[in-house]
Amino acid sequence: MLNSHVSKDFVDREEIEKLVTMNRAFKLLRERQRRNIKKYPEIESLTRKIREVRERCVGDRELLNEAVENFERRGFDVHLADDKDGAIRLILELIGDERLLVKSKSNVAKEIGLREELEKKGIEVVETDVGDRIIQLLSEDASHPTGPAVHLSVEMIAKKLSNHFNTEITPSAEKIVEFLREDIKRRVEKANIGITGANALTKEGAVVIIHNEGNIYEVMQRPKRWIILTGIDKIYPSLEDAISAMKIQSFFATGEILPSFVEIVSGCAKTADIEKKLVKSGDPEKISLILLDNGRSKIADSEFREILYCLGCGNCVANCPAHSVYGSRFAGGRFALVDALRGNRDALKLCLSCRKCRKNCPMEIDIPRMISDLREGNELFNFLLSHARWLNERLKVELLKIILSSKLAKDY
Ligand code: SF4
Ligand code: SF4
Repeated sequence: MLNSHVSKDFVDREEIEKLVTMNRAFKLLRERQRRNIKKYPEIESLTRKIREVRERCVGDRELLNEAVENFERRGFDVHLADDKDGAIRLILELIGDERLLVKSKSNVAKEIGLREELEKKGIEVVETDVGDRIIQLLSEDASHPTGPAVHLSVEMIAKKLSNHFNTEITPSAEKIVEFLREDIKRRVEKANIGITGANALTKEGAVVIIHNEGNIYEVMQRPKRWIILTGIDKIYPSLEDAISAMKIQSFFATGEILPSFVEIVSGCAKTADIEKKLVKSGDPEKISLILLDNGRSKIADSEFREILYCLGCGNCVANCPAHSVYGSRFAGGRFALVDALRGNRDALKLCLSCRKCRKNCPMEIDIPRMISDLREGNELFNFLLSHARWLNERLKVELLKIILSSKLAKDY
């Protein structure tokens, strides 16, 4: 009935629901950050310190070489990949004949389209983070780097997963997580290859990974081989610095300074309990570390260097008014800029030059300046046009929210 009044071209009801759900989730995040910042006054000095560390370390070849040497000395199988093709080739070699791979969240894997590339070769890739698994199964775009499914309501997820699995899934967050966890667990048990990213690497040869779900531990430990794919820009001079960066990332991604799990791995399982002879043991038998350049060295020497100071917290996305209205059409903050650096500059016309991303970035990365450097044409004209477009879209969304709200309330 309602849809007969509202033209299909004018509104995609599902899109409005997704925007509303996403913005509600971001609002909750901001409120949690505001509440908790008083509990963690150290955040301010930590962010200053880590900004300085990133300024020093990004693009430092000597630091990279030292780290590679130390990782090798600790038994890691280290590879440097120049670009996407090189990284995919290496991963295919490491996978060999295996046809099932379990993976956890990794921005670098996303950057090279790893899942899609492996699927083209007939390899099944199972995402083990609940949010990533949801968007994988439902063929959705991620709306936030650490909360990829925040645009989907519990009802929407339950309905679509019920269709996918051909079974009734209760629309409750707990039930959905329980169902997916069971499904993921069965697949992890069968897989011989696990692939993860890394939040940080240290010069001494340690990998630092943070997570809340417990899945990364499974992906690292259960399969026979563990592949870590990360960028050459993730190296810190010490474990202490890496931990500080991790705390900042966690706070700005979730509002909590400590995630549930912090994994620090600096080698394979080993023991010297018998006559002090060193015996390697346990799974995974081999840990491979792939360090991807993919343009990072060039960026480190360019006017876009600052983007490599990014910790991947996603706070710029959660505070981007353009992303809040355009959703997946404008990735927001750092992610819109990175898309543009990889060639997709068209979306930059949607940026409002409002500087909210810079204001909310713990590393104070000047994303708006870099967007403006990349954008063609007159800046004043771009500014006026992007605001007119945004206002039009925002009014449309607000109007449709009002029209649909009674109907949505009735449905759910
Ligand atoms: S300046 Fe652009 S990218 Fe940054 S918050 Fe504003 S609209 Fe988003
Ligand atoms: S640019 Fe800043 S706010 Fe955005 S993901 Fe990176 S560190 Fe976080």
